[in-house]
Amino acid sequence: MDATTGIPPAVTEETAAFWSAAQEGRLVVEQCTACGATSFPPRGICRSCRGRETSTAEITDRGVVYSFTVNHQRWLPDLEVPYAMVLVEFPAHPGVRVTGRLRGCPAEETRIGMLVDIGFEPGPGGQAIPSFIAAGADA
Ligand SMILES: [Zn+2]
Repeated sequence: MDATTGIPPAVTEETAAFWSAAQEGRLVVEQCTACGATSFPPRGICRSCRGRETSTAEITDRGVVYSFTVNHQRWLPDLEVPYAMVLVEFPAHPGVRVTGRLRGCPAEETRIGMLVDIGFEPGPGGQAIPSFIAAGADA
Protein backbone atom coordinates (compact mmCIF):
# COMPACT_ATOMS: atom_id res chain seq x y z
CA MET A 1 0.00 0.00 0.00
CA ASP A 2 1.21 3.47 -0.75
CA ALA A 3 -0.16 6.17 1.49
CA THR A 4 -0.09 9.07 -0.90
CA THR A 5 -1.59 7.66 -4.07
CA GLY A 6 -4.52 5.65 -5.20
CA ILE A 7 -8.17 5.67 -4.49
CA PRO A 8 -9.50 7.07 -1.23
CA PRO A 9 -9.68 4.50 1.54
CA ALA A 10 -12.98 2.67 1.66
CA VAL A 11 -15.15 3.74 4.56
CA THR A 12 -17.22 0.79 5.66
CA GLU A 13 -19.37 0.10 8.69
CA GLU A 14 -16.33 -1.51 10.32
CA THR A 15 -13.84 1.24 9.49
CA ALA A 16 -16.01 4.37 9.92
CA ALA A 17 -14.94 4.87 13.55
CA PHE A 18 -11.30 4.63 12.55
CA TRP A 19 -11.56 7.25 9.82
CA SER A 20 -13.57 9.72 11.84
CA ALA A 21 -11.10 9.45 14.73
CA ALA A 22 -8.22 9.83 12.27
CA GLN A 23 -9.63 13.20 11.23
CA GLU A 24 -9.17 14.24 14.86
CA GLY A 25 -5.64 12.84 14.98
CA ARG A 26 -6.58 9.85 17.09
CA LEU A 27 -5.74 6.23 16.37
CA VAL A 28 -8.75 4.08 17.16
CA VAL A 29 -8.84 0.32 16.80
CA GLU A 30 -11.48 -2.31 17.28
CA GLN A 31 -11.84 -3.83 20.73
CA CYS A 32 -13.82 -6.95 21.57
CA THR A 33 -16.37 -6.33 24.29
CA ALA A 34 -16.20 -10.00 25.36
CA CYS A 35 -12.46 -10.56 25.80
CA GLY A 36 -10.92 -7.10 25.35
CA ALA A 37 -8.64 -8.09 22.48
CA THR A 38 -7.78 -5.25 20.11
CA SER A 39 -7.60 -5.64 16.34
CA PHE A 40 -6.61 -3.58 13.35
CA PRO A 41 -7.75 -3.24 10.66
CA PRO A 42 -11.31 -3.47 12.01
CA ARG A 43 -13.16 -6.56 10.86
CA GLY A 44 -16.30 -6.61 12.94
CA ILE A 45 -15.21 -9.92 14.44
CA CYS A 46 -12.73 -10.62 17.23
CA ARG A 47 -9.47 -12.23 16.09
CA SER A 48 -9.15 -13.90 19.49
CA CYS A 49 -12.57 -15.24 20.50
CA ARG A 50 -14.55 -14.68 17.29
CA GLY A 51 -16.97 -12.49 19.19
CA ARG A 52 -18.99 -10.09 17.06
CA GLU A 53 -19.67 -7.49 19.73
CA THR A 54 -17.01 -4.84 19.30
CA SER A 55 -16.35 -1.33 20.48
CA THR A 56 -13.39 0.94 19.93
CA ALA A 57 -10.21 1.63 21.87
CA GLU A 58 -7.86 4.54 21.37
CA ILE A 59 -4.14 3.83 21.16
CA THR A 60 -1.91 6.54 22.56
CA ASP A 61 1.28 4.55 23.23
CA ARG A 62 4.37 4.82 21.15
CA GLY A 63 4.64 2.18 18.48
CA VAL A 64 7.55 0.00 17.46
CA VAL A 65 8.62 -0.49 13.84
CA TYR A 66 7.95 -4.13 12.96
CA SER A 67 9.03 -3.92 9.34
CA PHE A 68 9.54 -1.27 6.70
CA THR A 69 10.18 -0.61 3.05
CA VAL A 70 11.99 2.35 1.52
CA ASN A 71 10.29 3.90 -1.49
CA HIS A 72 12.24 5.81 -4.11
CA GLN A 73 9.36 6.48 -6.48
CA ARG A 74 8.15 10.07 -6.51
CA TRP A 75 4.41 9.56 -6.85
CA LEU A 76 3.57 13.20 -6.29
CA PRO A 77 5.57 16.32 -7.20
CA ASP A 78 5.94 17.44 -3.59
CA LEU A 79 6.72 14.03 -2.18
CA GLU A 80 10.19 13.79 -0.72
CA VAL A 81 12.02 10.66 -1.77
CA PRO A 82 13.23 8.34 -0.58
CA TYR A 83 10.78 7.81 2.22
CA ALA A 84 10.05 4.85 4.47
CA MET A 85 6.73 3.08 4.83
CA VAL A 86 6.66 1.41 8.22
CA LEU A 87 4.52 -1.35 9.65
CA VAL A 88 4.10 -0.46 13.31
CA GLU A 89 3.00 -2.63 16.18
CA PHE A 90 2.07 -1.70 19.73
CA PRO A 91 3.38 -3.87 22.57
CA ALA A 92 0.28 -3.28 24.70
CA HIS A 93 -2.02 -4.16 21.80
CA PRO A 94 -1.01 -7.45 20.17
CA GLY A 95 -2.93 -7.92 16.94
CA VAL A 96 -2.72 -4.26 15.97
CA ARG A 97 -0.35 -3.38 13.14
CA VAL A 98 -0.70 -0.12 11.26
CA THR A 99 1.07 0.99 8.09
CA GLY A 100 2.10 4.57 7.41
CA ARG A 101 4.83 6.83 6.13
CA LEU A 102 7.63 7.59 8.57
CA ARG A 103 8.56 11.23 9.13
CA GLY A 104 11.23 12.88 11.23
CA CYS A 105 14.21 10.83 10.19
CA PRO A 106 16.02 10.05 6.93
CA ALA A 107 14.62 6.96 5.23
CA GLU A 108 18.01 5.24 5.38
CA GLU A 109 18.03 5.55 9.16
CA THR A 110 14.80 3.61 9.58
CA ARG A 111 15.35 0.55 11.75
CA ILE A 112 13.24 -2.36 12.91
CA GLY A 113 12.49 -1.85 16.58
CA MET A 114 12.72 1.94 16.55
CA LEU A 115 10.11 3.86 18.52
CA VAL A 116 7.61 6.03 16.69
CA ASP A 117 4.87 8.41 17.74
CA ILE A 118 1.43 8.19 16.20
CA GLY A 119 0.64 10.91 13.70
CA PHE A 120 -1.56 11.57 10.71
CA GLU A 121 -1.27 13.41 7.43
CA PRO A 122 -3.68 14.27 4.63
CA GLY A 123 -4.26 11.36 2.28
CA PRO A 124 -6.30 10.70 -0.84
CA GLY A 125 -9.88 11.91 -0.81
CA GLY A 126 -9.30 14.27 2.11
CA GLN A 127 -8.98 11.42 4.59
CA ALA A 128 -6.38 11.68 7.31
CA ILE A 129 -4.10 8.66 7.08
CA PRO A 130 -1.64 7.30 9.64
CA SER A 131 1.85 8.75 9.34
CA PHE A 132 4.34 7.96 12.06
CA ILE A 133 6.97 10.26 13.54
CA ALA A 134 10.37 9.03 14.68
CA ALA A 135 10.40 9.35 18.48
CA GLY A 136 12.27 12.44 19.52
CA ALA A 137 11.92 14.15 16.15
CA ASP A 138 10.27 17.54 15.67
CA ALA A 139 8.44 16.66 12.43
ZN1 LIG B 1 -12.81 -11.39 21.80
